[in-house]
Amino acid sequence: MSKRDYYEVLGVSKDASERDVKKAYKRLAMKYHPDRTQGDKSKEEQFKEVKEAYEVLNDDQKRAAYDQYGHAAFEQGGHGGGGGFGGGGFGNDFGDIFGDIFGGGGRGRQSRAQRGSDLRYNVELTLEEAVKGKTLEIKVPTYVSCDPCDGSGAKQGTSAKTCTTCHGHGQVQMRQGLFAVQQTCPTCSGKGKVITSPCPSCRGQGRVEKTKTLSVKIPPGVDTGDRIRLSGEGEAGEHGAPAGDLYVQANVKDHKIFVRDENHLYCEVPISFTTAALGGDIEVPTLGGKIKLKIPKETQTGKMFRLRGKGVKSVRSHSTGDLMCKVVLETPVSLSGDQADLLRQLEEKMGKSQAKHRPKETGFFEGVKNFFDDLKS
Ligand SMILES: [Zn+2]
Ligand SMILES: [Zn+2]
Repeated sequence: MSKRDYYEVLGVSKDASERDVKKAYKRLAMKYHPDRTQGDKSKEEQFKEVKEAYEVLNDDQKRAAYDQYGHAAFEQGGHGGGGGFGGGGFGNDFGDIFGDIFGGGGRGRQSRAQRGSDLRYNVELTLEEAVKGKTLEIKVPTYVSCDPCDGSGAKQGTSAKTCTTCHGHGQVQMRQGLFAVQQTCPTCSGKGKVITSPCPSCRGQGRVEKTKTLSVKIPPGVDTGDRIRLSGEGEAGEHGAPAGDLYVQANVKDHKIFVRDENHLYCEVPISFTTAALGGDIEVPTLGGKIKLKIPKETQTGKMFRLRGKGVKSVRSHSTGDLMCKVVLETPVSLSGDQADLLRQLEEKMGKSQAKHRPKETGFFEGVKNFFDDLKS
């Protein structure tokens, strides 16, 4: 199968900035993420394609190589082992997409093969909760280490015996013609140990199903897609192997007033005809309560006012975004006869000098006239 161009996959231009690449990736990853697509195989493929494109375009060196040689830059292991391209189990594809907010130490590579699975838990938050942070109690169905056998899988008072087939190595050598091939030991499935009397509670698995209740601290400033890692709170491994991690992923619900973009908030505030014309103070909502905003005279509808530092405090950098308030002029409705008369009087009074009071309209009609004049000539 020939590969699609990485830029095309992410839908960005060749000179897209790192930020644009990240943004495009985040958007597509959310769209195709297996958590959201309920096992749709084609979406899963798209997710992998998107992830692969991102891994190249987000890395200066790889991107430069790709720009120069195209896909050939990464073929036939040219990139060297461990690059994390293409191969890898499905588990790897979930990697730390959105970064690990709490950081935390790296995990040992050796135990990775046997360690329990990582888990993901999605939490829905209101914008207020995401901004202020929250401590939540969650119930996670998982595997925990078996108590009676202490995770070993062997019945109390007994212990696992070293496998006699592989002598505890987990691997055996098989002859195939001239070659000796290493294979996983068929007797112990590579564990190196055999349980002769399995623990009855876990049937020899060393772990049992259980719903754990955990308290999770959501830090202030998280956004949709951010994940919090709870190290060692994933599934317990079999036979006493270390547990995986639990990732709590935030999903922020839409808000009635505010729309969030990164750390900026956007909102629309209606203003009256009179305030727009004459100027005045209005009240605008912020996440911390109402504040006053001075509207200068002759404000046109659609004008955006930036309120510095009234956005969201970033969970990562602790810088705070702004609140963008767009004022929208509200046409008066349900006017009484008297009120309508007053407006008509106003219109008449402005009559002789329309162009002065309505520069935009005048400019617009002049533009239209010029447009048609140009067509004719
Ligand atoms: Zn064995
Ligand atoms: Zn047990």
